[in-house]
Amino acid sequence: MRLNRVSDLKRVLILGGGFGGVYASRRLGPQVKGRTAEVTLVSRDNYFVMTPLLFEAASGVIEFRHAVNPIRPLMCCTDFVNATVQHVDLARKEVLAESRAGDTYRLPYDHLVLALGAVTNTMRTPGSEHALTFKTVHDAVQVRNRVIEAFERADAEPDPARRRAALTFVVIGGGLVGTELIGELTEFTGQLFRSYPRLKRTELRLVQLQSGPRLLPEMADGLAAYTEKTFRKRGVEVRTGTAAARIDPDGVELTDGTFVPAATVVLAAGLAPNPVVAALDLPKDKTGRVITDACMRVPGHAGLWAVGDCASIPDANGNPYPTLAQHALREGKVLADNIAAVLKGREPQPFVYKTRGTMAALGHRRGIADLMGLPVWGFLAWWVWRTYYVMQMPRWERRLRIIADWTVGVFFRPDAAKIDLTTEPAPVAPCEHECAPEPLARA
Ligand SMILES: Cc1cc2nc3c(=O)[nH]c(=O)nc-3n(C[C@H](O)[C@H](O)[C@H](O)COP(=O)(O)OP(=O)(O)OC[C@H]3O[C@@H](n4cnc5c(N)ncnc54)[C@H](O)[C@@H]3O)c2cc1C
Repeated sequence: MRLNRVSDLKRVLILGGGFGGVYASRRLGPQVKGRTAEVTLVSRDNYFVMTPLLFEAASGVIEFRHAVNPIRPLMCCTDFVNATVQHVDLARKEVLAESRAGDTYRLPYDHLVLALGAVTNTMRTPGSEHALTFKTVHDAVQVRNRVIEAFERADAEPDPARRRAALTFVVIGGGLVGTELIGELTEFTGQLFRSYPRLKRTELRLVQLQSGPRLLPEMADGLAAYTEKTFRKRGVEVRTGTAAARIDPDGVELTDGTFVPAATVVLAAGLAPNPVVAALDLPKDKTGRVITDACMRVPGHAGLWAVGDCASIPDANGNPYPTLAQHALREGKVLADNIAAVLKGREPQPFVYKTRGTMAALGHRRGIADLMGLPVWGFLAWWVWRTYYVMQMPRWERRLRIIADWTVGVFFRPDAAKIDLTTEPAPVAPCEHECAPEPLARA
């Protein structure tokens, strides 16, 4: 299928419906539609994920659907193609994409924005295929199901060592994602015990591995120390200066030589480039991000732009901006203005942003926040975290659903329902054992 239209308008193609791509599309469409350009957003999913809410979605505090926002209502002047980008032909200025149903699209462009984000780095640790990751809605569903499944298995397991291994959860990574995940797990697993009265809380083991000397290198020492102390009080084994040497199907071997038997291992240690971006012959930094100038143009490729986690955008000192949502969405807005300016024959402007702060929720209504250099922790930080992220979610309809979930959560605990994404297998052959029920007699 070829989706180009015969017109004098320039074609702007934005790849990726995350923070960078959605905010660029929302801002650019109304500025150029019908006048200078047609804007098309291409994304694998037809929703935008508010990643900071994925932790509470996994534990069931909010519905999975409420942690995302459908893309189409967010766009008034942008076309949307729900397809997975397979290949970018930089020489022919054409993108090849394929829908889940197998339809292929050839999308020519005059301006192309790479906003495809990044993926979890599975190359650092041998055996990563045995671990879960925590980046997408699918990952969050998998983690939730695995945790509940572990409780089900443990409940039916007579052997204490195997029961303990089933109830051991290892999170690899001491950055923001690993820390927020372990914080949420302390609360979620604690609540699950109510549904499994035969299991003892002393059989639960939560382990967080951090190869560096302390948790949360992106935050102030005091906030990291508060986090570690809080987790230790809740019984989490925080192992700093220790990495995973190898992940096995039945546990993790650590760099200090010990083996932690565990049924669930989640990898949250670093990012790797999106495969589509990795395949492009473009200038990249050592982490595989596409190097741009301060205006987010890719040097040497007219009409090519990059934004968000897949881009290495230099700040005023020449250092790349961090891979954070607060940056990606602002980069997306400035990039939109820059493309609109270039289409009108004007000069684009550099992206300049000073981080306003960093926040993390730690579960049990506790959090940490660095608000423009002011450290805040405990209940207040958690409350600021919640208020900020619900307001970051576009559209009041979505915000109200989240607030409703939170309100219900004050009175009722999350349940232990495990909704599998695979279909339930139907019996393929009749049971031949003696226990087979007699066929029902016809009346
Ligand atoms: C669990 C979690 C929590 C986080 N919490 C915070 C936080 O509290 N604060 C903060 O600032 N940052 C946070 N981050 C980081 C933040 O989410 C990222 O920095 C941000 O999402 C980057 O935006 P992006 O647009 O570059 O990429 P993404 O938001 O990842 O968007 C990429 C988009 O591209 C699409 N895509 C990928 N490949 C293809 C393909 N081949 N074809 C079509 N579409 C494709 C994806 O479906 C997605 O829609 C968190 C990240 C995670 C994983």
